[in-house]
Amino acid sequence: MSQYVSRLGQRRTRPSQQPRLRFPGRRPRRVAMLSVHTSPLHQPGTGDAGGMNVYIVELARQLAAQGTEVEIFTRATTGALEPTVELTPGVLVRHIDAGPYEGLAKEDLPAQLCAFTHGVMQVWAGHRPGYYDLVHSHYWLSGHVGWLAAQRWGVPLVHAMHTMAKVKNACLAEGDAPEPAARVIGETQIVRAADRLIANTGEEADELVRHYEADPANTAVVHPGVNLDRFRPGDGRAAARARLGLPQEAVVPLFAGRIQPLKAPDVLLRAVALLVDEEPGLRARLVVPVVGGPSGSGLAKPEELQKLAARLGIADLVRFHPPVGQERLADWYRAASVLVMPSYSESFGLVAVEAQACGTPVVAAAVGGLPVAVRDGESGYLVEGHDPADYARRLRLFIDDSTRAERMGAAAARHARGFGWDAAAADTLDVYTAALQARRRRLRSPHG
Ligand code: UDP
Repeated sequence: MSQYVSRLGQRRTRPSQQPRLRFPGRRPRRVAMLSVHTSPLHQPGTGDAGGMNVYIVELARQLAAQGTEVEIFTRATTGALEPTVELTPGVLVRHIDAGPYEGLAKEDLPAQLCAFTHGVMQVWAGHRPGYYDLVHSHYWLSGHVGWLAAQRWGVPLVHAMHTMAKVKNACLAEGDAPEPAARVIGETQIVRAADRLIANTGEEADELVRHYEADPANTAVVHPGVNLDRFRPGDGRAAARARLGLPQEAVVPLFAGRIQPLKAPDVLLRAVALLVDEEPGLRARLVVPVVGGPSGSGLAKPEELQKLAARLGIADLVRFHPPVGQERLADWYRAASVLVMPSYSESFGLVAVEAQACGTPVVAAAVGGLPVAVRDGESGYLVEGHDPADYARRLRLFIDDSTRAERMGAAAARHARGFGWDAAAADTLDVYTAALQARRRRLRSPHG
């Protein structure tokens, strides 16, 4: 990974709130953060709200705590919203009118980017020159707005893809719809336009270089964090089960997140069906909660997973719950014997780290950021591919050894403590500072 700007995410031991900048220099006073298609105020776990929303909220909070103000621009999706909402001191959410509040899917939003950019420019025009020091865009739609805004304001553009069309298309679930060519083109343009790209993992940085010809020198790796105050073992599994009404002796493999083919919750259900076929007595011991709501291509068939559970003859074991706030989600993690994440692709997989931070091991597909998030054989198991039998074998280990969840859970909690948002924010500030310095150097150079 040495060809990248840095392995910023490796520095994990710094005391919180005391960023030591690898690139000493002026840090941005105020960042315009762009999140066109989904708001940091939305409930994650369904529709277009997921890890990226959590990422933006937590990163912005920590940047503000470390002295950099953040204004997050997002599309207004209801008339009831105030134009600005303070998330926390130093973090402002700005609602931009771009198209009707309802009825637009993410796929319709490329047609609204001009309107959104217009709204961003109007806000900017109301400020003195130099109000924003840097633009940080999230996801390709925001990248396009950021491209123009950063050029017009004469500031650097830092971009995070979160997911990439070419990567998603390379490992689609069976029958899932591929991402359109227009997105690939849009992403390629942003890679060229951005001063710096932030990748969640070394693998994502490699993908940016391999698929989009990103310049390794401008591609930084910053591991996302986990809110360690919210996600912690707390009062333990038994108390969490009591609160959620789950049987104390049950084996509980949990799925949490957006329900769509990409996340492969069906693989968990098929694995459970195999286990029950093998040993019908297990029926009395297994409870399988699925926490989250339909999203992406899963929206077309919102009942698909329920129907699959019925077809597999395990409808009585699977309990569907709509998405919950993170305090409640932490209880679901604590209550589970193991979190199962059989995703086809995953730019990082925050739920894997959150569950571990709560003391719960993870069985995950070895894709995307999950090999960073999970320590194979220690804090959980990584599985190659999506064969339900392979997941059933790993789940069997937790069924046969009732102490495994505790043992691996303790290791998981230790592992997750390395992923604080304070460190992620300090690493992001390093990227900002480097981008500002490079721009200043370019402006000073005679060839400009
Ligand atoms: N989440 C939540 N409530 C739910 C389910 C999920 O708040 O009921 C949050 C979860 O805490 C996590 C995010 O949604 O931070 C999902 O992020 P992840 O990276 O796992 O997946 P993504 O949605 O980005 O694909």
